[in-house]
Amino acid sequence: MSDQVLGMKCTSCGTVSYPKHAVCPNCRQETFEAVAIGGEGKVLTYTDVYALAIDYETRYLRLAMAELDDGIRVTGHLLADDPKLGMRIRTEIGTVREPGDKPIQGLQFHPI
Ligand SMILES: [Zn+2]
Repeated sequence: MSDQVLGMKCTSCGTVSYPKHAVCPNCRQETFEAVAIGGEGKVLTYTDVYALAIDYETRYLRLAMAELDDGIRVTGHLLADDPKLGMRIRTEIGTVREPGDKPIQGLQFHPI
């Protein structure tokens, strides 16, 4: 698997979305090109989800919405024991679950 997270950039207005939308949320066009996203940003909000699929080996999953320094808002797994709104994070690709020993990769946020 690629070690980059790909967002979709609208070929009409340049708005970057992650995950992909069927239509651009800014101009309603439907053509996109893949662009790498990632880097650092800050936590906008977070929550702990306890209603997980049966193959999760954790009691809960801490999810966050973060705003990256280039303005893109993304959702991912927040790996912080003491999360705070506005805390700085860096993005990485990591294993978020392993159903049937097949790792599923996703976006993770690490405190910095
Ligand atoms: Zn657009």
